Amino acid sequence: GGPSGSRDKLELKDIFIAVKTTRKYHRSRLELLIQTWVSQAKEQTCIFTDGEDRELRVRTGANIINTNCSAAHTRQALCCKMSVEYDKFIESQKKWFCHVDDDNYVILPSLLRLLSSYHHSQDVYLGRPSLDHPIEAAERVKSDGSVSVKFWFATGGAGFCISRGLALKMSPWASLGNFISTAEKIRLPDDCTIGYIIEALLEVSLTHTYRFHSHLENLQKLPTDTVLEQVTLSYGGFENRRNVVAVVGGFSLAEDPTRFRTVHCLLYPDTEWCPRPKPQ
Ligand code: UDP
Ligand code: MN
Repeated sequence: GGPSGSRDKLELKDIFIAVKTTRKYHRSRLELLIQTWVSQAKEQTCIFTDGEDRELRVRTGANIINTNCSAAHTRQALCCKMSVEYDKFIESQKKWFCHVDDDNYVILPSLLRLLSSYHHSQDVYLGRPSLDHPIEAAERVKSDGSVSVKFWFATGGAGFCISRGLALKMSPWASLGNFISTAEKIRLPDDCTIGYIIEALLEVSLTHTYRFHSHLENLQKLPTDTVLEQVTLSYGGFENRRNVVAVVGGFSLAEDPTRFRTVHCLLYPDTEWCPRPKPQ
């Protein structure tokens, strides 16, 4: 693009956001997302689950896709969902594929700003590295497993994004069920398998982006004045209730234990259920 900005500006509608969930979390986790950030990105967000919930679909109007994958927390079941997410993204014709879990809040303006600094036809893989070193696995796709490969992968629990250009190149190992056989060959979870296909097979590097957050981190340590600049947030859940982002607003910790409602009201203060600012 020249100085007049001939390059098209990226819009929210260019991004496909896949949320991974499971039937038993529809009430306890998904409902909160549908009331908050998903409400601002209804058309481009697809929720991938494993059990029918017509009531939720009808009541909220959310795009809920029953993958018919098993509801077990196994590698096979999780890879089955990722495989359906990938195929739906390819079908969608959108420019970016972003995956998140059902305990992530997506700060849509930050996501848009981040992706705007890249081009969807280039090879882009963005996310938070899961470890502080690359993972090592036996190479069983290109060779017989006697050699090992080292690669980085973005932790699925913090969310990650892939450009359409790169996603198309992943097709031989990711489309139409191939993702499940690739994951079975290397015997690694879904997010590792994504990293394996991109870094080890396609030789494209993960762009380490520390604005994606999972509850494996200490979320309280995020400076309050930077919370709204992050791309994704998460919360500790009932094993670690106190691991939430430090934001202050109209909801107490008891009213908003995940802090997602508070974040949402800071971003979209006109939302009808947000507390009105007290008159001065
Ligand atoms: N999940 C799933 N099937 C299951 C259990 C979990 O699809 O049987 C999903 C869940 O909805 C979430 C993701 O997997 O999107 C991670 O689950 P969780 O947050 O419970 O685990 P952790 O983040 O500790 O890996
Ligand atoms: Mn989680």
